[in-house]
Amino acid sequence: MSDYQLGLEYAKTQDQSDDLSAYRNQFHIPKDTNGNDLIYFTGNSLGLQPKSTMSYVEEELKAWAELGVEGHTEGKHPWLHYHEFLTENMANIVGAKPIEVIVMNTLTANLHFMMVSFYKPTKTKYKIVIEADAFPSDKFAVESQLRHHGFDEKDGIILWKPRKGNELARYEDLEAIFDLYGDEIALTLIGGVNYYTGQYFDLKRITSLAHFHDSMVGFDCAHGAGNVKLNLHDSGADFAVWCTYKYLNSGPGSLAGCFVHERHANDRELNRFTGWWSHNKETRFNMRDEFDQLPGAEGWQLSNPPILSMAAIRASLDMFAEVGIDRLVEKSKKLTGYFEFLIEQLNNPNIKIITPKDPSERGCQLSIQVLNADKKLHHKLTESGVVSDWREPDVIRCAPVPLYNTYLDVYTMVEKLKEILND
Ligand SMILES: *Cc1c(COP(=O)(O)O)cnc(C)c1O
Repeated sequence: MSDYQLGLEYAKTQDQSDDLSAYRNQFHIPKDTNGNDLIYFTGNSLGLQPKSTMSYVEEELKAWAELGVEGHTEGKHPWLHYHEFLTENMANIVGAKPIEVIVMNTLTANLHFMMVSFYKPTKTKYKIVIEADAFPSDKFAVESQLRHHGFDEKDGIILWKPRKGNELARYEDLEAIFDLYGDEIALTLIGGVNYYTGQYFDLKRITSLAHFHDSMVGFDCAHGAGNVKLNLHDSGADFAVWCTYKYLNSGPGSLAGCFVHERHANDRELNRFTGWWSHNKETRFNMRDEFDQLPGAEGWQLSNPPILSMAAIRASLDMFAEVGIDRLVEKSKKLTGYFEFLIEQLNNPNIKIITPKDPSERGCQLSIQVLNADKKLHHKLTESGVVSDWREPDVIRCAPVPLYNTYLDVYTMVEKLKEILND
C-alpha cells in the first residue's frame, strides 16, 4: 500500500492519473468568500449537488406545469411508476435484488416501519442489541419501540460496547452478549458503518450470529450506502435502511432507501402498517377492493411519494450507475489510504486515527482524534477552508469522497492541520 509519497507534486500526479477525476466537474463545489473551492470533507453529512440534478427536477416541474394530473401516467417519466426508475440502480449500489429495495419515506421513519414488522417481542424475548455509539436517532427510535410494546427502555436495550480504552467494537464481545442473553434478544440493530468511528462491520458475520440465536437483524446503512460495497442480499439481514442525502448526493432531507430480504417478499403474515401504496398496483385505483398486498419491499410503501425529491435521487443514481460502485470503492481505498499515510507522517503523538486500519473494515471516512484539542481546532480548520465535522470531545471526521474529492484536497487539508497544530 505504501507506494504513497509526500509532497505536492505527488498529489497532483495522482489527480492527473485518476480516471474518476472528471466527475468532480459534474458537481457544484461550495466556495469561500474569495471564490476558491472549499475542501469539502462532509459528504458523509450532506453530499454535494450534481450539476445534472437541476434538469432532472426541472423535467418534473415542467411535466406538472404542462400535464397537471395527467403527469401520473403521461410524460417521459410517469409519476405513478417513478420509484421504479430508481430501483435497479439503488439495488446495485447496496448489493440487493430489485424486489428487495424501495425508495420511500425518510430514514428514521423507515426504521420504525421495519421494526413494526421485524421487532416481534414476546414476554421473555424482547431485548434489542445496538452498538454503544449508535446514531442518536436510532437509539431514540429503539427506545420508543420498547416503550410502545410496554417494556422498560433501560432494561430492553443491550449495548455492544468497545472495551475500555478502545473505540472499536469487537465481534467476540457481541458473541459473548449472545452467549449470555441470546434467549432474550428479539432484534439486533447495528449501524452498518458506524457514524462516529467509521468502522464498517461484517454484516454477514453479525447476521449469522444473531440468526443462530433466533434474533431478527437490521442494519442502518446511512454511512454505508454509496460508500462501501454492502452486499445486503448476501449478508442475509432481514432489513436495512439508509438515507440518500449523505454519500448518495440527493439533497437535504431527501427520501430514504429500505431493504427487505427476499425471504420476506411474499410473507403476508408479517405485521405491518399499510397504505394505498402497499396495495396491488393493478387495482390500486379501483378504490373499493379489499386490501391486496404488493410483494417485496414495495409492499411497505404507504403514500404516493414526493416526485421532485425522487427526481434528484434519479440524477444521482444515474451517475453512480455510470461510474459503478467497484471503481468508486477502488478510488476510495486509495484516496483514504493516502490521507491516512499523510496523517501518520505528521508523527504527532497527539493524533490518533480511530477508524480501522484495514481498508476492508472502513469506507472513505477517517475519524481523527486530536488529544488535548477542543472545538477551536475545528474552528481554525474551517477558517482555513476545510469543511469537516467535529465530534466532542476531540474527534474530527473527514470523508474524502471519491466522486468529487481530490488528492490535492487531502494534501492541502493535512498541510493546514500541520500549520494549525504547530501554531
Ligand atoms: C444520518 C443518520 C440518520 C438520520 O436520520 P433521518 O431520519 O434521515 O433524519 C439516522 N441514523 C444514522 C445512522 C445516520 O447516519
